[in-house]
Amino acid sequence: MINGERLIERPLRWGMVGGGRTGQVGYKHRTGAQRDGTYRLVCGAFDLDAERGCDFGKKIGVTADRCYADYKELIAREAAREDGVEVVSIATPNFTHYEITKACLEAGLHVICEKPLFFTVEECDEVARLADEKGLIVGVTYGFTGHPLVHQMAAMVKKGMLGDIRIVDLQYTHGFNSGDDVGAGDALKWRTNPKTAGPTFVLGDIGTHLYYLSEIVLPHLKIEKLLCDRKAFIPTRAPLEDHATVLMHYDNGARGRLWVSSVNAGNMGSQRYRFVGSKASIEWSDAHPDQLIYEVQGEPNRIMHHGMPYLEEESLAVDRMGALHTEGLGDSWSNIYLWIAQAIDAKRRDDEAFLKTHHYPDINAGTEGVRWLENCVRSADAGAAWVDFK
Ligand code: NAD
Repeated sequence: MINGERLIERPLRWGMVGGGRTGQVGYKHRTGAQRDGTYRLVCGAFDLDAERGCDFGKKIGVTADRCYADYKELIAREAAREDGVEVVSIATPNFTHYEITKACLEAGLHVICEKPLFFTVEECDEVARLADEKGLIVGVTYGFTGHPLVHQMAAMVKKGMLGDIRIVDLQYTHGFNSGDDVGAGDALKWRTNPKTAGPTFVLGDIGTHLYYLSEIVLPHLKIEKLLCDRKAFIPTRAPLEDHATVLMHYDNGARGRLWVSSVNAGNMGSQRYRFVGSKASIEWSDAHPDQLIYEVQGEPNRIMHHGMPYLEEESLAVDRMGALHTEGLGDSWSNIYLWIAQAIDAKRRDDEAFLKTHHYPDINAGTEGVRWLENCVRSADAGAAWVDFK
């Protein structure tokens, strides 16, 4: 169980790029980072609008002299301080991730970046090499994978409680973009423009969460081929998609079906994961993150609750609230940030033995998400054809 005792030597000096007053995801970063005494927010370039960013920074406790106009100023001015920032989170639109990550790494700073990490696998490989050369960590905020019951699912699959995995059924949908984009806000504008979003809209925006979580639960399964069919129901969003289905063939013979959509009008179900084996199935949704449905063929169905002693050690170890008390997204983000802090701390101490076994969403996780997107786009652009996964 995680109880807030500090698990690293000292708090890391932490800064943010983006994630300011107008950003959707910034508070999730701060909720995650500031929970366990592992990060201390010392600076930021929180907003494209420098004045608004500084005003915001001051209101969340950053001193005025460390609220910067942009990330370049942040890097330059922090480098000149003895107590300069050590790790920077990037919570800006997709097209800026690569440029800001590279600049931070070149300046010797660890990075925690939003997904989808970059536009291409080539960019990911280049940045992975740079991070390696510099001895720095790049973490990726797949914020839903800190939920204790995600790790329960992984442990049950590992123990063979489902039997052989046959079917993987993944869904992340909502209806917030069912109407047209007349008068759309900035967050939707950049998401539907290939120059700022990258090669996908909903596949990258929400599909990468499904894909990474399924990799955590099924680390032994690899995709052999996939077929992606994507469509923009609102034509102004083309060539990007507001809806897609992906069929996947795995190397053990399992079949996968993934549905992402932002035009599933009225739907508030968010994410749903079902893993079906030869003996039993498990099903979990982030709408009810503290419950896991466990169905054994021929037996009454069970609902497992987070924090209960019958769960596997892997799940109980990352529980925060304890059974009976609500566990949610903030707790999940705190786990992600804690695991990344432990990786940075180990890197600083040259503790490669710790890093070998320590699990957190690292640059490889970010790269695999981008690789999956590249394969989806290749298939969709070929007219929803089956393609070998490369
Ligand atoms: P948003 O449009 O709501 O906010 C972006 C913010 O970044 C704005 O406040 C803007 O002023 C600021 N900004 C833009 N360019 C900047 C720059 N160069 N320097 C400083 N600030 C800059 O976007 P959002 O929904 O918060 O998404 C941001 C990123 O987070 C995207 O990559 C998105 O995919 C990702 N995201 C991830 C999750 C998750 O669960 N991990 C959830 C939502 C968004």
